[in-house]
Amino acid sequence: MSVTLSRGRVLYERAQRVLPGGASSNVKLEERPQPLYFVRAEAARLYDYDGNEYIDYTCGYGPVILGHAFPPVVQALQRAAAGGFIFGGQHEAEVLLAERLVEYVPCIEMVRYNCTGSEAAAAACRLARGYTGRTRIVRFAGHYHGWLDEQLVATHPSPDRELEAAPESRGQPASSVEHLIIAPWNEIDALERIFVQAGDEIAAVLMEPIMCNSGVIMPGPGYLERVRALCDRHGALLIFDEVITGFRIALGGAQALLGVTPDLAIFGKALANGFPISAIGGRRDVMALATAGVVHAGTFNGNPLGVAAALATLEELARDGGIVYARMTDTGQRFIHGIREVAQARGVPVLVQGPGPVFYMWFTDAAAIRTYRASAAVSRAPYERFAVAMLDQGVRLIPGGRWYVTASHTPADVDRTLEAVEKALHAVAA
Ligand code: PMP
Repeated sequence: MSVTLSRGRVLYERAQRVLPGGASSNVKLEERPQPLYFVRAEAARLYDYDGNEYIDYTCGYGPVILGHAFPPVVQALQRAAAGGFIFGGQHEAEVLLAERLVEYVPCIEMVRYNCTGSEAAAAACRLARGYTGRTRIVRFAGHYHGWLDEQLVATHPSPDRELEAAPESRGQPASSVEHLIIAPWNEIDALERIFVQAGDEIAAVLMEPIMCNSGVIMPGPGYLERVRALCDRHGALLIFDEVITGFRIALGGAQALLGVTPDLAIFGKALANGFPISAIGGRRDVMALATAGVVHAGTFNGNPLGVAAALATLEELARDGGIVYARMTDTGQRFIHGIREVAQARGVPVLVQGPGPVFYMWFTDAAAIRTYRASAAVSRAPYERFAVAMLDQGVRLIPGGRWYVTASHTPADVDRTLEAVEKALHAVAA
């Protein structure tokens, strides 16, 4: 298959006049030679303005878990929309969804809603500060918790400035990050030292329990347990950002898979299969402060459409004891092993790792990557060439190296994609 773009090119020229960056998407225009405009998405496929079809592993940057336009979710949205988009008041479905979240996620005793992960992260930090009366938050190099002023820090720092709490955007006041302490993730000694120095000032430790924004990296054995114990010893809250891992790797998120329960956790992305809704949940005594001293507002919080999409998504994910997770893990593992085999046969050094429903691919001869530093040290250039070569064959990847799979990807999709991988590796090697 080969991709052609003509009308898309014209649309891009029009877009450049009215949309800064030429695109309204969540990231600046994809770093590829040709901009893409999509017209439709269904199951594991995307369709562009020029009529090209792509097998999609971007999955909306994580949210699409069952497949694009998954019929039961579409039907739930249609029913909800016909009943009114917004009430400005309570409704039954928000209670039903909260009950499901309490049932599935270990840390959740009470829950509130937002529309995006960034908002939920801000709410979690405010709750932690409101509860503890402290202001400092420990963050980790390579983790991402949204684009807001207080959050945008240490996303992809250069290794020599890994632990600097510096603004990442023009327009972001230096004061917005002055209460943050940046630590290296998966290195318990460094966190212990931070707690020795500032333990009684720390409101919370905020982390991705599996670091997905800089590679897909599992916590080392005992790491999360020791972070949990440190937080308890010093009266700080532990917050897991499960915006990527939540409902993607297990119904109860990384906390269920890894057996460590945080005080608060935030969810978004896969919660509603791509419809914008996020959730913040956790300990009753902390969550009870929301609207009782800690302000948490939002016109669209808990809106009937987002809640309906989430309920329909969870119903499908929970079916037959969550069998869908075994299927997605199997699909991911086929890729992890398949890509390794194809690369080995071609003599291209490639590392692929991750739990399966999300995984990461680096061009490196390292046997494993366990830290941000090691991930950041790998050159991105070969992967960018690889992603472009894949796109030319009708496979859409995130430029960085992360792959998402859905319940809609079939074994035939895996085979076709692996054929594309073989050709794209050839392009990279050449
Ligand atoms: N947390 C994590 C771990 C994320 O990956 C993201 C988005 N990529 C966010 C928070 C922010 O979510 P949103 O883009 O919905 O604001």
